[in-house]
Amino acid sequence: MLKGKTAVITGAAKGIGRATAIRFAKEGCNIVLNYRSNVSDELIAEIEGYGVECMPFKADVSKFDEAEMLIKEAKKKFGSVDVLVNNAGITRDMLIMRMSENEFDSVISTNLKGAFNTIRFASNIMLKQRAGAIINMSSVVGLIGNAGQANYAASKAGVIGLTKATAKELAARGVTCNAIAPGFIETDMTEVLSDEVKNQMLASIPLKRFGNADEVAEVCVFLAKNRYITGQVINVDGGMVMN
Ligand code: NAP
Repeated sequence: MLKGKTAVITGAAKGIGRATAIRFAKEGCNIVLNYRSNVSDELIAEIEGYGVECMPFKADVSKFDEAEMLIKEAKKKFGSVDVLVNNAGITRDMLIMRMSENEFDSVISTNLKGAFNTIRFASNIMLKQRAGAIINMSSVVGLIGNAGQANYAASKAGVIGLTKATAKELAARGVTCNAIAPGFIETDMTEVLSDEVKNQMLASIPLKRFGNADEVAEVCVFLAKNRYITGQVINVDGGMVMN
């Protein structure tokens, strides 16, 4: 049911975004692959190997005008924007009493405002189509908090509010908006953490292992296909949120 549709995925050069782009390509979607610094030719070739088109598009989603260009160029190239996955995200961890203004602002700008920016332009297109699916990457940290991540937790909790308000605004025209709250997923973002922190995390995961990017990508595809779930947060965290 996703064959021939257009999926825009932000921050898709690596990690969860990369896995999600590949997963939607497997479903037959044309991919608008947003990246900030660079993207490998190998990834583009892998996506095209599934018989779909891939348009790499460099944009910093925290910038309103760059997000606008991303969505408008996607529509211009493929004629529709059917799926939007707001995956781009950063961390700038620090205890709140030592956190700089820039550490707070940059995380909010990318993780929360970045999602607003793309939704701002994609929602118009989706409403006219009377169809579309928006999937926002939140985090278990947005639900339960985490010491040293006040900026990140605030941004990811904000994403949940953004998701629910958007879901209510767009539902009447058949457009869904949901969030995914991953736990600890093995990517570059978590690779930098010390073994001590990783072991602490592991102890708080009922399924006793870290997740992988494909397990999150799978849920993105599920939410894009399902047309009767909206305004929800799906936890993909090995049960972490229960602790
Ligand atoms: P990652 O490997 O660090 O990848 C993040 C991607 O986002 C990178 O490709 C990065 O591009 C891109 N990006 C960052 N800022 C951007 C911007 N302003 N505009 C466009 N792209 C931007 O991280 P990940 O683990 O895959 O995380 C993906 C999402 O899942 C994030 O929203 C993260 O908060 C969320 N999440 C991850 C975990 C986890 O355990 N890994 C858990 C919960 C939630 P550059 O490399 O060019 O900067």
